[in-house]
Amino acid sequence: MQQFILGGLKQIATLASGLGKDKKLLILIYHRVLDGPDFMRPSEVDKKAFTWHMELLANHFNVLPLSEAIDGLKNSSLPPRAVSITFDDGYADNYTNALPILQQQGLTATFFIASGYLDGGRMWNDTVIEAIRGMQQPCLDLSEIKLGAYDIGTTGQKLLASEQIIKAIKHLDFQQRAEYSHYMGQQAHSLPDNLMLTSEQLKAISASGMEIGGHTVNHPILAKLSDEEALSEIESNKQFLEQLLGKPCRFFAYPNGKLGRDYLPCQTGLPKASGFQAALSTEWGVANKEAEIWQLPRFTPWDRSPSRFMGRIISLYLKTK
Ligand SMILES: [Zn+2]
Repeated sequence: MQQFILGGLKQIATLASGLGKDKKLLILIYHRVLDGPDFMRPSEVDKKAFTWHMELLANHFNVLPLSEAIDGLKNSSLPPRAVSITFDDGYADNYTNALPILQQQGLTATFFIASGYLDGGRMWNDTVIEAIRGMQQPCLDLSEIKLGAYDIGTTGQKLLASEQIIKAIKHLDFQQRAEYSHYMGQQAHSLPDNLMLTSEQLKAISASGMEIGGHTVNHPILAKLSDEEALSEIESNKQFLEQLLGKPCRFFAYPNGKLGRDYLPCQTGLPKASGFQAALSTEWGVANKEAEIWQLPRFTPWDRSPSRFMGRIISLYLKTK
């Protein structure tokens, strides 16, 4: 029954993805592929979910490497149902969990790496999440740093507290944010230092034929930086990755990626000035032939069944002319 439904949806997706030279490109974003469900990270896929996502894409869509997809957009030569797969940040499970599943399905993806966290680093939001996960007390009092107090006696409360704290400090200055997460880290019993890729794992992903893209060194909110600082973050990251991998780093993803909040309209020239060929935001949407190559939209999948996921993709294709 499911195959019948998916077969029908595939035909609709063919029409929805555009006709003739007006075909559209959907770029998916993932961050992590967890070993299994995690109450502190309910929006991330695990291996089981990622497996059916990739099976669905392999069987019903045309998954293209980003370089081919962008060329196809520019030359109006995309196939129907065109999709590209991307990962942001550089988590270790991209190597341990995502890579084997992608390879099993014969798919390629682009991995955007914040190079400052390779080899044992930890992003500030993960410090918050992991610190709260390990806490045993019923309440977390952060009034000393003016962040209030939180009940953390249940798993649901821990999740809510981490979401609220992350929201409260996400858009602060880089330094201030680091101080808050450092304070949180000091309250923790222990924190993992193996969340992010090692250089060797990243080399192996690259050597397997996957594309590696730039995502800055420290994952700052670019909108908060001067042009000089932003350019340095973008260029240093590109140079580091090219030197490590011995290949050109061709594509860039803006950290956090929302226009106006995370990067500014005037900053869309920076990836070009740094020698990238295209840049990706996290604005939800599908790219058409008029899409701006320095702000290609993407979409994070969350649907829990293949037919809903496919329906979502169709509605995304349809929302773009
Ligand atoms: Zn990111």
